[in-house]
Amino acid sequence: MDLNLRGKVYIVTGGSKGIGEGISRAIAAEGGIVVVATRSEGAVTTDFIAELKAGGTDAYAIFGDLQEVENCKKVIDATVKKYGRIDGIVNNAGVNDGAGLESGPEAFRKSINLNLFHYYDLVHYALPYLKESKGSIVNVSSKVALTGQGGTSGYAASKGAQLGLTREWAAELLPYSIRVNAVLPAEVMTPLYRKWLDSAFENPAKKEAEIIKKIPFEHRMTTKEEMANMVAFLLSDKSSHTTGQFMSVDGGYLHLDRSLT
Ligand code: NAP
Repeated sequence: MDLNLRGKVYIVTGGSKGIGEGISRAIAAEGGIVVVATRSEGAVTTDFIAELKAGGTDAYAIFGDLQEVENCKKVIDATVKKYGRIDGIVNNAGVNDGAGLESGPEAFRKSINLNLFHYYDLVHYALPYLKESKGSIVNVSSKVALTGQGGTSGYAASKGAQLGLTREWAAELLPYSIRVNAVLPAEVMTPLYRKWLDSAFENPAKKEAEIIKKIPFEHRMTTKEEMANMVAFLLSDKSSHTTGQFMSVDGGYLHLDRSLT
């Protein structure tokens, strides 16, 4: 299936690592132009950009902490200056930072800043260009939005709010034919996930095996490529009548009967 992304411009936040890296590669493989917006210059190698360009498309990286509103504006301005259009935004950057009920108001606010505000800020600044292109927005949320996890109030609140915004923007943007959807990962091995396993548990290997056992489909984690394929489809006009949806790409982890595992 040709997703018809060739020549179109997609911003992927956190697009050089983990799920974001998978998404950038999937868009580039379909001929889309990828703008990787991420925090630190060291996170994007020239090799990575060259690999994205290998199929004959273009790719570009913009650096800055998206917690700063100015940096979100910079991402949009730089993209438009370079390519003159924006066809889609993938809000993906986020961190499960473990700001729980015991952590206090300051940690809670920091966590919301880390995980939520930039989802809004980027779309706000990109809106005129998305209206022109009849673009598509994909918000990467989490199963935690619906299940909770314990000890991570800020992250859970942000992930839940991302689902609220997905529905809200899908409604608000109907007149412009801009589609808005969310994907909900559950268990995907990424640098963030590895860090969590290694820091939160005495025996990370045992914990990993326990988690994998509970994933109904094939008792394995979802790959970043499987996440990315769903995102690329939602960005593309092959999903042209899909909006306001929450897509769980998780091997049945969230919805299938526990007794199956
Ligand atoms: P990851 O491996 O840590 O990659 C996230 C990327 O986002 C990193 O490059 C990170 O940069 C960047 N980033 C984070 N905060 C940023 C900020 N304020 N400004 C600019 N860049 C920022 O994480 P991941 O596991 O792929 O997660 C991606 C998304 O999926 C997140 O929204 C996460 O909540 C969600 N998710 C993941 C899982 C899972 O199983 N992995 C499950 C549920 C939901 P640095 O390298 O500088 O930190």
